[in-house]
Amino acid sequence: MAKHEKISEAVVRRLPIYLRYLSYLQQVEVTTVSSQQMGRNLDVNPAQIRKDLAAFGDFGKKGIGYDVNYLVEKIRQILKLTDEIRVALVGAGNLGHAISNYNAYLKDNMRIAAIFDSNPKKVGNELAGLSIQPLDELAETIAAKQIKLAIITVPAPAAQSVCDLLTQAGIKGILNFAPTTIRAPKDVRIHYADVTSNLQSLAYYLT
Ligand code: NAD
Repeated sequence: MAKHEKISEAVVRRLPIYLRYLSYLQQVEVTTVSSQQMGRNLDVNPAQIRKDLAAFGDFGKKGIGYDVNYLVEKIRQILKLTDEIRVALVGAGNLGHAISNYNAYLKDNMRIAAIFDSNPKKVGNELAGLSIQPLDELAETIAAKQIKLAIITVPAPAAQSVCDLLTQAGIKGILNFAPTTIRAPKDVRIHYADVTSNLQSLAYYLT
């Protein structure tokens, strides 16, 4: 695939799932894996996995499978996880604390590099090795630390104004935990981690 070609959103969402499984295989010192084995473990059609990966080059060997280390390196390159990606978190409440202290999914070269809160009583407190900063330091800190992504964990009514501050400061991707839709300029990507909506969808499948 040529460098400038865009990868489909579905593939971009599947690659981290492949990466998580492959990283586990590295931990347990498995060196090769077949698309069948990956498919079984991840509940993804093996043909889909082969198709997704073939789009980036010929990684697999017929009858042997994929070299785990090589594939991990390639997927990291494709997802641009090779350089450290710094993330800002806004809203140092219950969820903000949990996310900041839970660094497992921020490994892969991702790191919370700044935490902001509007409550003066929280500003200056330490959280996950960082000092919680006031919002008026947000733009300067994001520029100085070259932070590109942000996590919003503020109450829903504050989410849009926080989103505006973040995008004005140059943030290009936001993971929003507040249960509300937020709007951002076209070049900013927003993902939602909406626990309530997800539970509501699950409720539909209850018998
Ligand atoms: P919380 O009240 O404990 O924390 C919110 C924090 O945001 C506070 O520290 C507050 O000072 C700060 N804040 C408020 N307005 C702000 C602003 N304009 N700028 C910066 N900081 C601001 O709430 P929580 O339980 O951590 O939840 C945070 C958000 O995540 C909410 O929108 C909630 O609905 C959502 N959420 C929470 C959970 C959960 O399990 N707690 C789960 C899913 C989603």
